[in-house]
Amino acid sequence: MQLTARIPTADAQAQRAAATKKVLAGKLFDPYTLELLENQAITICNDSGMILDVSPFSEPGSDFASFDGEVIDLRHLTVLPGFVDTHVHFFLHPYAETSWEDQVTKESIVERTIRATVHAKRTLMAGFTAVRDLGTEGAGDADIALRKCLSSPGALIPGPRYFCATRAIAPTGTYGPKSSLYLNKEGIDGVTGVDVADGSQECIKAVRRQIGAGADWIKIYADYPIRSRASEVSRRVGAASMRTFELDEVQAMIYTAHAYGVKVAAHATNRSTIIPLINLKVDSIEHGYEMGTPAITAVEMFEEYKGHETKYVPTLAAYYTMSQGKGEIWDHAVNSFKAALRLNLDNIACGGDTGVFTHGANALELSLMVRLGADWKKVLKWATLGGWECVRSRMWEGEAGKTRLAQVGDLKEDPRIVGDNEVPFGAVRRGFIADLIATPGNFAADFEGAVSAESIQFVMKGGRIYKRDGLPLV
Ligand SMILES: [Zn+2]
Repeated sequence: MQLTARIPTADAQAQRAAATKKVLAGKLFDPYTLELLENQAITICNDSGMILDVSPFSEPGSDFASFDGEVIDLRHLTVLPGFVDTHVHFFLHPYAETSWEDQVTKESIVERTIRATVHAKRTLMAGFTAVRDLGTEGAGDADIALRKCLSSPGALIPGPRYFCATRAIAPTGTYGPKSSLYLNKEGIDGVTGVDVADGSQECIKAVRRQIGAGADWIKIYADYPIRSRASEVSRRVGAASMRTFELDEVQAMIYTAHAYGVKVAAHATNRSTIIPLINLKVDSIEHGYEMGTPAITAVEMFEEYKGHETKYVPTLAAYYTMSQGKGEIWDHAVNSFKAALRLNLDNIACGGDTGVFTHGANALELSLMVRLGADWKKVLKWATLGGWECVRSRMWEGEAGKTRLAQVGDLKEDPRIVGDNEVPFGAVRRGFIADLIATPGNFAADFEGAVSAESIQFVMKGGRIYKRDGLPLV
């Protein structure tokens, strides 16, 4: 076939213009300043999906006729950075449908992976453009392949940016599924819910193996009801969360992961587990529902957070849906979160433990935070910028990270080189990737209505539109 030379049909300026698109936002939420800015034009590079400029347009009627690129008119909506759910399990579906044990031991990895692809699409359409998956729960490292299909530049299926942890790590005897025939055996028919490791050498090996397999995060079970069998005779003992790993094991895992630029999330509920973890610079505490009980504990507890970058991910939505908002565990989760509010803790990220309840209902976590007294602007920040600060890799942390962040607006880095997931998201500013959502709702008057999946009219990820006028485009 003969190739013909491409004849330029426009002048250089027009070519430049056509290389970009503009989103016109009636209102725009800025998580850095907590402001709702009016009438903002967001200019996006079609090629890279990066935001090149955000500036006000003073006359709403004033046309962009001289602009050659596409104009997406969202002047009737409020535009926000895409939401981030920092604690999902795409390989689980609600326990109300199928128990956790049956999902892990009776559903094939093929079925679980197909379900995960459906969960991913629902999540994106609900306005969540990035998630962190904290463990496949018996589905091995299927999340690594899912990540390639979802969030690489050659993505095959719609879904959010996907940061994943492969298998969580826990010591022998801790985690299910537990056989009722062979009480001393780990798992059932070769299926374990976690990667089992004991002693600092095995712990280091597990972390290295997982990072080598492609994990973005290391997830550990730092405390757990290890004596759950005792519940047959003593409910109190059976239900008690106890520290699982020895300190040297936890330290070895955190140091090893950090040396490779990988962060560590810890399932941890008790003060005695959490304080050493924070001092060892663990990157996020998941659940922490015993932190606020009693009140004196909460003060000491959250004092530990100050000066550290550790994020608190309270997973209120999981406790709420499992308990229908009643009972001791829910009360404890509420007390912990309210204590964090009283002490003005700001290093919070929104993660619902989504999967325990329906994927796509991720905004429940945001709604519960507001119901429990959090300022809705703070919640929007925790669900956007707070999410990015949580899931981003360690290349963005420390002094080097601060320098890198300060240069973001210079657009020195080509996102196609740094990779799909390493770009800044969680704010609509020059140098951030165009992950945008929009709602007609009024946050002050009806927060829950404004953030619900149904109200999200528009979803863009990496400059590409996935939902418009409330309808999925894919
Ligand atoms: Zn979880």
